[in-house]
Amino acid sequence: MPVVNRIADLSDEMTAWRRHLHSIPELGLECHQTAAFVAERLREFGVDAIHEGIAKTGIVAIIEGQGEGPTIGLRADMDALPITEETGVDYASTHPGKMHACGHDGHTAMLLGAAKYLAETRNFAGRVALIFQPAEEFGGGGEVMVQEGIMEQFNVSQVYAIHNSPGRDFGSFNTTRGPIMAAADTFHIHITGVGGHAARPHDCVDPVVAACSIVQALQSIVSRNRHPMQSLVISTTQIHTGTTDNVIPETAYINGTVRTFDKEVQAMVVRRMEEVVAGQAASFGLEARLEFEFGYPPTVNDAAKAGFAVEVAAEIAGAAAVDDAIMPVMGAEDFSYMLEARPGAYLMLGQGEGAGVHHPKYNFNDEIAPIGASFFARLVERAQPVAGA
Ligand SMILES: [Zn+2]
Ligand SMILES: [Zn+2]
Repeated sequence: MPVVNRIADLSDEMTAWRRHLHSIPELGLECHQTAAFVAERLREFGVDAIHEGIAKTGIVAIIEGQGEGPTIGLRADMDALPITEETGVDYASTHPGKMHACGHDGHTAMLLGAAKYLAETRNFAGRVALIFQPAEEFGGGGEVMVQEGIMEQFNVSQVYAIHNSPGRDFGSFNTTRGPIMAAADTFHIHITGVGGHAARPHDCVDPVVAACSIVQALQSIVSRNRHPMQSLVISTTQIHTGTTDNVIPETAYINGTVRTFDKEVQAMVVRRMEEVVAGQAASFGLEARLEFEFGYPPTVNDAAKAGFAVEVAAEIAGAAAVDDAIMPVMGAEDFSYMLEARPGAYLMLGQGEGAGVHHPKYNFNDEIAPIGASFFARLVERAQPVAGA
């Protein structure tokens, strides 16, 4: 069975919702207009309860099925990025400097499509919790919703999410039965030496040479301390110091990102970064302080739930269009917090060629919405079948 027929009928509506949302992108936890639009649609569909204002602008809506059963959670993110849009489409952003460049407008429309179908048909037992979260890109809206207790309050037993994926085959589902996205941590290194005349280095303690040496030494953690079969990225992305050619500056600042999948590797990196920074500072005779900031944890699919999601995806897209063992991605995702709280799975839905996410020319492909919405709908119907049906 390909796309659910009734959901194919909702295709134009989903496109209209998506394009409206595309024109009003909002950032972080401030998804006010977006959430209002979502709540309005959910009310029209006749869902059983709408809980607004979770994590400021997040929503959890409940649809009751037939008879007793568990609650399955389906999540869409709603936020946009601080990018100036360059798509040239006639429904482009009307909010200067903000843009739906990650397709969260499409994720929201897709989950609304599934919601409309599920509220109409109710061909499942138990309940569905539709989770619309703000602040996926930054601000950790998913974490805030979990901290505010949505999993306990709505008794969610398992959770699923889809992200569109440009560059992967149109309509293909891509996932894996374990870690799928990395933990993303940030490091800051503050170096303090002694400044002075650039012609008199012996009177100074130069933070520039020390900064360069620290950056080099950090790469030895990846090449010499990491198990060769484990994934690790350490990228230094900023060095700020100095003002002119004839002054040795007093301070330097180094900034960058660390990506890992495994808590032990992450702990090793923190320990080794502290040792490397302290050792390098001592060797140059200056002060250096490491500030390690933990970000989103790794996104880890539950093997059994991912296996189930793969079966449902194969029903919608055909087995040939499902890859259940993709190479994990070093990007991060705050659905990770929901997967830490409850078992579930995260899948990428290919949308064909086109600009990548976070690019000013990126656009969500509306033609994948019926596929994603059908996946959500069948996931619910198969996970929680009506008794005796
Ligand atoms: Zn993004
Ligand atoms: Zn995204």
